Amino acid sequence: MNNNLHDSNHPTTRSAATEQLRSDGMMNSESKRAPGEQARSQRCLLCGGLRHRVVFREFDIDILQCLGCRHVFSSFAGDPHYAEFWGGEVANEVDPYWWKARDRMYQDFLTKFLASRSGRLLDMGCGLGFFVRKVATLGTWEAYGREISPAAVRYAHEKLGLANITCGRLEDVEFAPGSFDVITFWDVIDHILSPDPVLGRCQALLRDGGICFLRTPNVSGQLLRARINKLMKGMQRNIDYMQAHDHFHQYSMNTIRKLLERNGFTRIEFVHLHPCQDLNGMVRGTRNLVFQLVRALAVISGGHLNLDNLFVVAHKGA
Ligand SMILES: [Zn+2]
Repeated sequence: MNNNLHDSNHPTTRSAATEQLRSDGMMNSESKRAPGEQARSQRCLLCGGLRHRVVFREFDIDILQCLGCRHVFSSFAGDPHYAEFWGGEVANEVDPYWWKARDRMYQDFLTKFLASRSGRLLDMGCGLGFFVRKVATLGTWEAYGREISPAAVRYAHEKLGLANITCGRLEDVEFAPGSFDVITFWDVIDHILSPDPVLGRCQALLRDGGICFLRTPNVSGQLLRARINKLMKGMQRNIDYMQAHDHFHQYSMNTIRKLLERNGFTRIEFVHLHPCQDLNGMVRGTRNLVFQLVRALAVISGGHLNLDNLFVVAHKGA
């Protein structure tokens, strides 16, 4: 369990190699880098700048902020396509985080964006397929998924019976241009080292008037909580601070907007959905109250003081 506001139940499912590095205290160590692992370019994704400052240190991984455009990113050199998140095989009993804790948030999305309509939806980085299954239950939407992890896709096919999920890099997904009304990214964009080809592909796959929806941690809240945790508790392996070895990019409202606009999206909006539900009933009530306060602050300040996760709606066309 970790105690960050992004997802308090987020399981630490990672590749065996990553876990080994973590347990050995070798993450991103220049002298002890794993065989074949490359030093990551510290050129800013958004402005190309090379000047940055360290804003947080998570064990031995630096979190950097570009001095040119203020984009925040991890210096960790991981798998750029993130194929190993689910490991070699998914257990039969998956962590309820993936279906129970997230269900209310998914339901909120369905109510806001899909109910009383019909169309086609593509979930990018769909993992085990629980959101695709949820959309399919509406009966009025054709739901598809794309996922790079073969283990996760096997689970979706065999355990959830979802035939509409394909395995491969997100940018290589094959559909005719304009095939989709909605494309979703649930906690995926932050894991993608080079997101432009993926977002460019989405732009082409959406029909005019379609939307791309993204949920990603908000660096403003994430960094604040990481610093408070470090100050109060020091560095502990069971706390997720900035998830430095998983989250390559830490977006703000400004930086995610820039990224989406340069990939052809025209109108970028920020909404709020129900948070993931903590599976501990005692904690859940407190967390939900905190989220209500955070949300109220965002609304009252006109979005200037937004510490909630980012729920982004990017439109194609006018
Ligand atoms: Zn920059």
